[in-house]
This record gives sequence, structure tokens and C-alpha cells, in this order.
Amino acid sequence: MTNGDKISLNADGSLMVPDIPIIPFIEGDGIGPDIWAATQNVLDAAVAKAYDGRRRIAWLELMVGEKGHTATGNWLSDEALETIRDHVVAIKGPLTTPVGKGIRSLNVAIRQRLDLYACVRPVRYIEAVPSPMKHPEEINMVVFRENTEDLYAGVEFQSGSQEAQTLAAFLKDQLRAELPPEAGIGIKPMSPVNTKRLVSRAIAYAIDHGLASVTLMHKGNIMKFTEGAFARWGYEVAKERFADQTISEAELWDRYDGVRPEGRVVIKDRIADMLFQQVLLRPAEYQVIATPNLNGDYISDALAAQVGGLGMAPGANISDKCAVFEATHGTAPKYAGLDKVNPGSLILSGAMMLEHLKWDEAADLVRSALQETVKAGTVTYDLARQIPGSTEVMCSAFGAGIVANMG
Ligand code: NAP
Repeated sequence: MTNGDKISLNADGSLMVPDIPIIPFIEGDGIGPDIWAATQNVLDAAVAKAYDGRRRIAWLELMVGEKGHTATGNWLSDEALETIRDHVVAIKGPLTTPVGKGIRSLNVAIRQRLDLYACVRPVRYIEAVPSPMKHPEEINMVVFRENTEDLYAGVEFQSGSQEAQTLAAFLKDQLRAELPPEAGIGIKPMSPVNTKRLVSRAIAYAIDHGLASVTLMHKGNIMKFTEGAFARWGYEVAKERFADQTISEAELWDRYDGVRPEGRVVIKDRIADMLFQQVLLRPAEYQVIATPNLNGDYISDALAAQVGGLGMAPGANISDKCAVFEATHGTAPKYAGLDKVNPGSLILSGAMMLEHLKWDEAADLVRSALQETVKAGTVTYDLARQIPGSTEVMCSAFGAGIVANMG
């Protein structure tokens, strides 16, 4: 059903959203069809309920992954990517990584080819979800992870290869940097332009949402010209673009005795290893974390575990031109087609997507109904094994329970 209208971009980058936007979706592989069916059901019900039928989503399926390969011989077509670009907002289930087909990862390919430079992962506690923390309710953070460079850029040479030997010889002869014999080599590029656009987006988010701080997470005490530069460029862009809305932590203490002036976002930085401790011990001190690719990968999964695990962790990959919302876990192939797993991650990614459309009423409805469902103890196997006395239900029944709780 695609009888809707396209979302478009205003000159300032904000979205123009019609009442019936066409939104492309990728069902995904493995458990994808199960969690997508539950998610679509929940999102449609929330929109219908929140807007009395005045708004709805016209879903447009894209054949990507195994489904695309079976139908067209293509895992990820240019046409599918163009459709996402053209429709500005899309949502996807997990995709399998074709082994030995010359594609590192379909997910990474989508991010790189659409230049989705910010991976945005909100980490918020949902009451009654089992957590290893004593006070999980203190965790309310959003991680902005740089998506296009760092060790993920794919510049890597195998131990003993001609390329590794050539590069090792160049480093030794030209730059007096000697590597251990037979070393495999990975390159860690980090640039001002990519850092600044990521940090700008994180700061803009903090300003829009009235949050107290943005923390630049880095390992600059060791890697000064990459991670250390990330922090420096982050402070720079705060001054260049948000001088009236931000204040550095140093200024906060020098000029305001540690009391945050009204309306200012505090920009601070923390060494990565220390921040892992802090988010366990003093989570309430952190609201937005902006960080390079690899740190972001680690901290967002660790934070997800603090509030209930990957089954409930939403995410989005965003550029200035389009956004793709996605479940953060993989295809869990052993559960494919069993209608068993938790659709929570994709459902909450859908709630993020509704918020991105500024359909906040529908997003709130999804989150509160999901919370009610978990509180009632009717949950999928992953939560049931952690909540004593709960009732295990199938993936589809969990989705239907959320819809029922919207009443
Ligand atoms: P995975 O699919 O995330 O599954 C690992 C385990 O996590 C599952 O066995 C299950 O644990 C738990 N899990 C995942 N999703 C769950 C859900 N919705 N509800 C409840 N539990 C859930 O990781 P993987 O097995 O390493 O990867 C499988 C494939 O997915 C690979 O091809 C990988 O490349 C791909 N992948 C895709 C994405 C993406 O599309 N964004 C991300 C990561 C991986 P239990 O066994 O303990 O129940």
C-alpha cells in the first residue's frame, strides 16, 4: 500500500511530513519477518490511535538482503538505496552478512553508501525491564557514534601480505616507525570534518531537548592525533557553531563556580575507560555522549545491557539527508521463523522514527504501552527468563499485547 506522499526536506534540514507519508521498510533476514510484523502492527495502531485515523503510514517494502537476493539476485540494489534517499526516512530489520560474497556487511554498506554518519542510540530505562543496575532509572542517555571512519574505514592489511610488507617498509624507511615482524596493519583515520558534523548533531540534539551536557568520549591520552583530536575538534565546533548555547566544563568552573547557566549545554570530555566506570557509578551525570566509531560500538552495547539488553535497544543511522531506523541486534538465525524473539528493539526504533517525524503523541503511546506490557509480566522468552513469575508469550502476542495496552 503506497498511496501516500513523500516526506521532503526543508531548506534548514527539517522534515516536511504529510499526513500519509510513504516510508520504505526492509523486513530483514532471520528473525526479521517476525519482529517486523509485530512492529508494523504496533506502529500502525499507535498512529491510528494518536491521530484518530487522520494520519497513517503508507509502507513501501524494499527487497534487500536474502529476500532481495532470492527475488533479483541482488543483496543491496542501487535502486533500494535511491528509494531510501528519495523518501528521507526508512526503517529496517536486521540483515545477514553474506559470507564470502565480497560484501563486508550489508549494514555497513547501507551506512557508508547513504553517508549515514551518525549512529544514534538512546539508552533509557523502561520500568520493570530486568537490569543489573541498582538504580537503572538514573540512566537516560543518547549515544552519538561516528559511523564513517576510525578503524571501521576498512583500511586493513593482513599479516604477511604484500600490502602489509610494503606499508611496514614505508613506515620504517620514511617515518622511522618500526612495527613487529609480520604485523597485520589497520589504519585509524579521523578527520575534523567528520568529527565536527557528528558532534554538531549531538550538540543540536542536546539543545533541542533541553539536556544539560554533551560528553566527548575519547582515548586521547594515548592516541593524541586521532582520539585526542576528536575531543579538540568537538570543543572547537561547539565554539564555532553554538557559542551562545554551550559552555565548556572548564569555563563552567572558572566563571560560574560549577553552576550551569540557564539554557547552556555543558561540553565536557572523558577518557573512554573512565567513562565506562562513570556510566556505572554516576550515570545521572551524563546525557549525550558523542564518540568515535569504535568507542561508540562498545559503549552503546554496554549501556544497553545496563537497561535490559540488546533485545530492547533501539537505534538509528542518520545523515543530513535521510535516516534509517533499525533494530540494533542481528538476525539471530537459530530463532528464525519461530515467532519467539523480542521485537522490542525494532518497536522502540519505530518510536524513535515517529519522534523524528515529530509525531510525538504516537511515539509516547508506543513507549508507554510497551512499558505496561512488560510491567504486566507478559513478555518474550529473553525477558521471561529474567523476570520471576512472568508469562512467556510469542513475538506476535507481545506485539498484540502492546496494541491492547494502548487503550
Ligand atoms: P544476534 O543475531 O544479535 O544474536 C545473538 C543473540 O542475541 C541471540 O542468539 C539471542 O540470544 C540474542 N538476541 C538477538 N536478538 C534478539 C531478540 N530480538 N530477542 C531476544 N534475544 C535476541 O548476533 P549474531 O548471532 O552474532 O549475528 C547473526 C547475524 O546477524 C550475522 O549475520 C550478523 O552479521 C548479523 N548482524 C546484523 C546486524 C544488523 O542488521 N544491524 C547487527 C548485528 C549482527 P540467546 O541465544 O541468548 O537467546
